[in-house]
Amino acid sequence: MGTVCLVGAGPGDEKLITIKGLEKIRCADCILYDRLSSPLLLNYAKDNCEKIFVGKTGWSPSMNQSEINELMYNKAKQYNFVVRLKGGDPYVFGRGGEETEYLIKRGIQVEVVPGITSAIAGPLSAGIPVTHRGKASGFRVVTASDKHGNLTDLDYKSMAKCNETLIFLMSLSKIQQISDKLVENGCNKNIPAAVISCATMPTEKKVVGTLSNIYNLVLENDLESPSLLVVGEVAGLSNLFDNHNKNICVTKNILLPKIGDDSKIQDELINKGFCVDAFK
Ligand code: SAH
Repeated sequence: MGTVCLVGAGPGDEKLITIKGLEKIRCADCILYDRLSSPLLLNYAKDNCEKIFVGKTGWSPSMNQSEINELMYNKAKQYNFVVRLKGGDPYVFGRGGEETEYLIKRGIQVEVVPGITSAIAGPLSAGIPVTHRGKASGFRVVTASDKHGNLTDLDYKSMAKCNETLIFLMSLSKIQQISDKLVENGCNKNIPAAVISCATMPTEKKVVGTLSNIYNLVLENDLESPSLLVVGEVAGLSNLFDNHNKNICVTKNILLPKIGDDSKIQDELINKGFCVDAFK
């Protein structure tokens, strides 16, 4: 019988996996990966590693949870070392705990490697520190969707009153409902709120507003899944602290010989938020 290792892939940018996680990928005989783990991580696997997608395609899962469990068990019988690659941290939602429980009950040895969760790295990437002296003395990470896909029955009353940052995962289709619940329970409708989609990826997008207009901003800007909602004073720091797209372009060597006018291209890149390093 082989070992199954649940590995946290990090929030999206493949470089945000841990060294330990990468080591596990490198020696895997088989990798079962989901939609939220970066596919670029598979390039680090051995040539003969079997790679199986077990994530969602559109709204429907390609496999249900019991099929995934069964597959992990069968692959552990077939191979020495199986990696179950999961987006973010394996034990922050995403049913990682259930997978461990199932494997242990079936006598399979399990290892778990933590990952950077989108719940913290997502806000950070958009320039939001989840705690900040004077603005948030802690944070709460909750899921907005219960197992039937309905709004989770959370303690909105205490959330509306606390001075903690509220981070809602699986919330994209429920933003209006969450805003209404918080306001009904006494939350100021002008409190800053942000939604970040595809955080840490090149396609990252964010909208920043308040509880009263965040839903409309999401609609107007076509934010897509995966997304998370952040509510709290810290969301107001987002534009000042913005951390995304700090890419470096080496303009002279790569772009300019082909296109010609240095300064125009540089200005354009700077306007788009790039950090331009021109080689003369
Ligand atoms: N284990 C994961 C969370 C799995 S639940 C983790 O630790 O990050 C799936 C939810 O995570 C998504 O619905 C979304 O709310 C959030 N999520 C995951 N990756 C994200 C990303 N790159 N950007 C924004 N939200 C993300």
